Amino acid sequence: MMPAGPSSALGQLLSRFGSEVIATSADVLAGISVDHRKLYPGRALALALPRSTSEVADILKFCNALRIPVVPQGGNTGYCAAGTPDDSGTQLVMSLRRMNRIRGVEPLNNSLVVEAGCILKEIQRAAESVDRYFPLSLGSEGSCTIGGNLSTNAGGVNVLRYGMTRDLTLGLEVVLADGRVISSLSALRKDNTGYDLRQWFIGAEGTLGVITAASLKLFPLPKRHGTAIVAVPSVKDAVELLAKLRAGSGDRVSSFELLPRAALELVERHLGARVDISASSPWCILCEVSSSDADDPIEERLASLLEAAMETGLITDALLAQSERERSAFWFIRENIPEAQRRDGPSVKHDVSLPIDRLAEFVDRASDWVVTHVPEGFLVCYGHVGDGNLHFNINQSGETAGKSLLAREPEIRRAIHDLVQEYRGSFSAEHGIGRHKVDELERYADPVELQLMQQLKQLLDPNGILNPGKVLRPRH
Ligand SMILES: Cc1cc2nc3c(=O)[nH]c(=O)nc-3n(C[C@H](O)[C@H](O)[C@H](O)COP(=O)(O)OP(=O)(O)OC[C@H]3O[C@@H](n4cnc5c(N)ncnc54)[C@H](O)[C@@H]3O)c2cc1C
Repeated sequence: MMPAGPSSALGQLLSRFGSEVIATSADVLAGISVDHRKLYPGRALALALPRSTSEVADILKFCNALRIPVVPQGGNTGYCAAGTPDDSGTQLVMSLRRMNRIRGVEPLNNSLVVEAGCILKEIQRAAESVDRYFPLSLGSEGSCTIGGNLSTNAGGVNVLRYGMTRDLTLGLEVVLADGRVISSLSALRKDNTGYDLRQWFIGAEGTLGVITAASLKLFPLPKRHGTAIVAVPSVKDAVELLAKLRAGSGDRVSSFELLPRAALELVERHLGARVDISASSPWCILCEVSSSDADDPIEERLASLLEAAMETGLITDALLAQSERERSAFWFIRENIPEAQRRDGPSVKHDVSLPIDRLAEFVDRASDWVVTHVPEGFLVCYGHVGDGNLHFNINQSGETAGKSLLAREPEIRRAIHDLVQEYRGSFSAEHGIGRHKVDELERYADPVELQLMQQLKQLLDPNGILNPGKVLRPRH
């Protein structure tokens, strides 16, 4: 590559910030330019690696003046291609991976302050080190960052009891497009001093500001778990079982995950992990109850609730984890469904949520539609059913079918999302909009809400430098 001239955007970035902060090597840029699902190959101008909030502010101010687009990136594990550049070669990717300090842990206040580049797993560990619990938990937790989690308002497997990332956030430090810093790392539970601006940035996918740090909530560390995989005849039975477990456990169900047979088979085929549960029912549930009281026999409570469910035919088989090893083995299966799906070949993914009381009816109708209209694919519908969130995915059926399945994605997506809309559900439950679902937002969003989103973008980023083309269509 020719060295950049001083008047080019890259040349100006390099002369202002130096190669310590602006990386340009082809190897580095290749790794950050394509999204996790490899659907959108891009080409970055360079990679900015700031070391402090003030450096983030300087870079943004500079880029705003020169109209250089900036794409914030965390662990690049997102599913909507929101954290990678387009193929123009003009967009600067900004990674906060060097800003990965735990700034402070306050066990008595049940809170901690972390920098945006912290890996989620490290935050969980920091909480555990002071006998506390940070409940955000995703299959990607070893590589995603809290900046990405906040910017996608990530969900995961504990939402049922602890809420989404938004619900776990007390305060944020954010750099605006023009370099101004909002420093609101409050550790307060109660603070009604005007509009709650931090909510603008949570779930904004890097289009309104760059999050540099966050103050997060902690909880008592669970000491005992009851974990089971159970077989259920139908999704309707699963929903009924959830209600019974919540009521019978003192509302201590933390996870309730739907696992279809197809997903169990994929994990066994591609990762060699299997679960020995009767194959007579088409669906399984991985459920977990937990207690922070070390003397609370919560696993026995789960066992007796499942026994009662077995007697009434609500479930047809149950396996209770007898050790921490077995518990991890159950979770390994759940967490590796996306990986097994990826290894199996191309897929069309939907991340939808429905009112829980309409979930079973939706699954029946949507599954019938897939069986009739998508012969080249098979359904792998799993997810956080306790939150009404389904990953309603379709994998290719055979070697040659992959291409035609992907070619039909827009048509399949439209049919599934129209059905979701009919049930007053959401076409994006936890993965966001990114580049992948901009059309969907335009189609399904309330027009007044969409207009306000555009006005907010104009207010905070009038030059449109922050993650252009993500969430909202770029202005010309
Ligand atoms: C195996 C696997 C399992 C997953 N399971 C779940 C799940 O259960 N629930 C769930 O919700 N998601 C899940 N995901 C999706 C993904 O892990 C989440 O969306 C995660 O929150 C993304 O974090 P990240 O650091 O990788 O962000 P990235 O993918 O790098 O970026 C995501 C978005 O955040 C923006 N961004 C990143 N950092 C900042 C910042 N500091 N300031 C402003 N904007 C920023 C980016 O521009 C982009 O718009 C899973 C992914 C995988 C691969």
